[in-house]
Amino acid sequence: MGMTVTVLGCDASYPSPGGACSGYLLQSGSTSLWMDAGSGTMATLSKAIDVDSLDGIVISHAHPDHWTDLLVYHHLVRYYRTRSVPVYSPRRVLELMEAVNGELLPLDWHVIDETSTAKVGGISLSFSRTDHPVETLAVRAEGLGAAIAYSADTGPAWSMSSLGDGIGLAIVEATLDPEHENATQHLSGRQAGSTAEAAGARALVLTHIDPDVPKEAQLAEAQTTFRGPVSLATVGARYEVLP
Ligand SMILES: [Zn+2]
Ligand SMILES: [Zn+2]
Repeated sequence: MGMTVTVLGCDASYPSPGGACSGYLLQSGSTSLWMDAGSGTMATLSKAIDVDSLDGIVISHAHPDHWTDLLVYHHLVRYYRTRSVPVYSPRRVLELMEAVNGELLPLDWHVIDETSTAKVGGISLSFSRTDHPVETLAVRAEGLGAAIAYSADTGPAWSMSSLGDGIGLAIVEATLDPEHENATQHLSGRQAGSTAEAAGARALVLTHIDPDVPKEAQLAEAQTTFRGPVSLATVGARYEVLP
């Protein structure tokens, strides 16, 4: 029942030793969706599932820590496989992929914006434009009655409540330590907790923490503003989300 989320990578900006940048595997029923394809996540995706069983890919924005493993995934489908896989992304990601690869077949590309909706197998998607220097889409994914919300990268001018209610699991970036709050278009642990609380999410996972910021301190900060359970994303962690 519901959905499962597997963390494929959770490092902000660049991968840590043995780690990977942003990426998540969403599964509901027989549907598998790769959400963000940061550096290192193709390898962790291949560990989690048979990549040939993937049903679709969604990319939040064009910063390299969120999409560059699509380049190597494209090599896989172009030279070793022939099946078409739908990819959903803001326009800039498509432009960058085309600049490197030219022809993108057999990827079935769909340019999306904050007004878009999409359905990949049993998972329904909707989006919200975040507070970030490039067009960035937060994602709501629903399957078998369960809903997850993913902030992608955002500053505090965005609210997770724009993704609707009934959120079982909020995956929220917590890049900044408290001293750097509002310095760039990212969130602190405290702000990550606030936006998940405002949306009424039942549980919170903190992700995309600056490699130089102590993770336990981010967790403690988020617990001051979010009333439900809070955890730190780690590669391979798996969350069951119920309706
Ligand atoms: Zn990022
Ligand atoms: Zn970014």
